[in-house]
Amino acid sequence: MIAPMRKNDDRLEASFSAFCRDAGFRKTIQRRIVYGLFYEARIHLGMEEIMAKISLKHPELRQESVYRILNDFERRGYIRKVEVPGVKKYEYATERHGHFLCSKCGRISDVDTSGIHLPDILADACDVSITFNGICPVCAKKIKK
Ligand SMILES: [Zn+2]
Ligand SMILES: [Zn+2]
Repeated sequence: MIAPMRKNDDRLEASFSAFCRDAGFRKTIQRRIVYGLFYEARIHLGMEEIMAKISLKHPELRQESVYRILNDFERRGYIRKVEVPGVKKYEYATERHGHFLCSKCGRISDVDTSGIHLPDILADACDVSITFNGICPVCAKKIKK
């Protein structure tokens, strides 16, 4: 299964190039690494997780640099901070959605909130963050046992 991976890499590279061009960023290996973490992935990563992933292949990359890159990417709308009280994570900036935070394991899941009817007063609201708190199915199962 080498071919599909290569294809993915090409797409990532092309996307990264276009992004840097639009944003006026110089293409650096550091930015490329951070970009790759979030590329089309529906994941929520905290700083520790980000550093853990990066250090597997690039232990030389320092947290300050990564932090700066994350801020740059956020300003350019590539990623966004996950708006859940008490949680600091980043995610790929797809369409707006809500989050479900498990109070047992701390896992965050995406929730499609497009079907939620908003009252008229919010018709022009440009920023909405919705968080649901509770216990995820995995933890619920453990509790029942
Ligand atoms: Zn859980
Ligand atoms: Zn999310």
